[in-house]
Amino acid sequence: MKVLEDRIRQEGLILSHTVLKVDSFLNHQVDTQLALEIGREFGRIFVDQPITKVLTIEASGIQFAMATGIALNVPFIYAKKKKAITLSEQVYSAPVHSFTRQETYQVSISQKYLGPNDKVLIVDDFLATGAALVGLVDIVKESGAELVGVGCVIEKSFQEGRGLLEDKGVKVHSLARISSMSPGEIHFVEE
Ligand code: 5GP
Repeated sequence: MKVLEDRIRQEGLILSHTVLKVDSFLNHQVDTQLALEIGREFGRIFVDQPITKVLTIEASGIQFAMATGIALNVPFIYAKKKKAITLSEQVYSAPVHSFTRQETYQVSISQKYLGPNDKVLIVDDFLATGAALVGLVDIVKESGAELVGVGCVIEKSFQEGRGLLEDKGVKVHSLARISSMSPGEIHFVEE
């Protein structure tokens, strides 16, 4: 997605060989029009699939899951990182190790909102080590729903996430795929 790659080149801060900061437009301050365009792009990619729910993980996948849900005209669900006291019903849950925070936490969603009749598209902001998305894939499996695919806004293709997901038979579509980066330099996978 050219407009996204251009923004990453213009505003992305490459903090190291593995960490890209995009919080001026993607995951802290959010460019709302770009988020909606990202949703429309996922909508175009998955338009032929009878998706019933979009699933993401709080917090920084929410704006893209919402935009994708609007484009596909279906609800989105975000997995919660801490079990809220209001989440009193039965939950599906999975452990996730955070690449950026270096901690393991449990993500959960209510069993009320996902089940065997659902066809699910998972959406997230980054695909890095894949831990967060593998956790969501496991939750979808546990629920008996069908996983249609995974849509990522930015994939760091030099990390192991895509391989892990593909080994599980999951189709991955990323809108910007970074092949390598270092401070002052960034390269995208040529499609
Ligand atoms: P993963 O589980 O694939 O390693 O990444 C999980 C989460 O870590 C992503 O959803 C994203 O929020 C965050 N993350 C991973 N790599 C980066 C990065 O380079 N920059 C930023 N801003 N977040 C990242």
